[in-house]
Amino acid sequence: MTTLVDSFARRISYLRLSVTDRCDMRCVYCMSEDMQFLPRAEVLTLEELARIARVFVSLGVQKIRLTGGEPLVRKNVSWLVHEIAGLPGLRELAMTSNGMRLAPLADELRTAGLQRLNISIDSLRPERFREITRVGDLEAVLAGLRAAKTAGFQRIKINSVILRDRNDDEVLDLVGFARDQGCDISFIEEMPLGVIDEHDRRAAFVSSDEILARIAEKFGVIPSTESTGGPSRYYRFADSDVRVGFISPHSHNFCSACNRVRVTVEGRLLLCLGNEDSLDLRHLMREVGVDDAGLQAAIINAMQLKPERHHFDLSEPPQIVRFMSMTGG
Ligand code: SAM
Ligand code: SF4
Repeated sequence: MTTLVDSFARRISYLRLSVTDRCDMRCVYCMSEDMQFLPRAEVLTLEELARIARVFVSLGVQKIRLTGGEPLVRKNVSWLVHEIAGLPGLRELAMTSNGMRLAPLADELRTAGLQRLNISIDSLRPERFREITRVGDLEAVLAGLRAAKTAGFQRIKINSVILRDRNDDEVLDLVGFARDQGCDISFIEEMPLGVIDEHDRRAAFVSSDEILARIAEKFGVIPSTESTGGPSRYYRFADSDVRVGFISPHSHNFCSACNRVRVTVEGRLLLCLGNEDSLDLRHLMREVGVDDAGLQAAIINAMQLKPERHHFDLSEPPQIVRFMSMTGG
């Protein structure tokens, strides 16, 4: 079978597919308050998204994560889940969600074939949660988490972005919560994607090492050799099988192990989160009218555009003007 390999001999087996740029939250590190969203005509249809997924799986991609924006604001997203879940060769279909609309949808998503869920929770204090997300409702998210567990999702992972003087005093509470819930938890260093004026990203930076040290002091941690083939470094606890992970684009560069590419909801194949190199799949599908073999060939060639690494630098204005919500986080 043809596989995707870039010019640094990295095998690409993981696609993050953005199903919408819209969201029912406005997290301060991800969006500005007044976001402009894409006109409907520029957004891929569910059928086009399903086609892209099918072509990537035919090229050896084994894992797909649906993301956004908030995937659960996309109408009929369960149809897409069902289409992708049935693709022969796909080993894992996952979704990253803010959880706010999960409670009524968890069962349907599970039945449609979604296997794994990441839910983003940056604070366990309702007022603070609202401040960070600008409009989010913590109770709805916690109801979503409960519904997902009841629906049978295993090893749900919580994602937390930690900002200095905002929620860094909640690291241990978040870990305690994850342990109580039987969820894994990953801490993410804020990345300079899109121009935000709500806070100074340099001042808000908290390194993964600082977070790890605090967790180790309270709970004790054991480094784990396991890897998901991605950027996370994992640790375990002696008394629980919950894992804590760190995504540290600043303090621990992970590019040499990169196994992923992204497709935005306008159909831009992005080879790297921190670079603009891309291929316009929507143009190929809509204007050029390529068949699946043509799409496969274009994607194989595009792997040569994948850069060796990102160059995130918090001391400079963001070089990537795309917001994370546009990119597909
Ligand atoms: N709306 C969904 C959610 O929040 O989980 C999925 C999309 S969101 C862009 C995916 C992840 O990216 C979330 O865990 C969010 O916290 C993270 N994120 C967003 N902006 C970020 C940034 N500038 N730096 C680091 N992580 C970011
Ligand atoms: Fe929406 Fe997710 Fe971005 Fe928050 S992080 S604004 S929930 S897309």
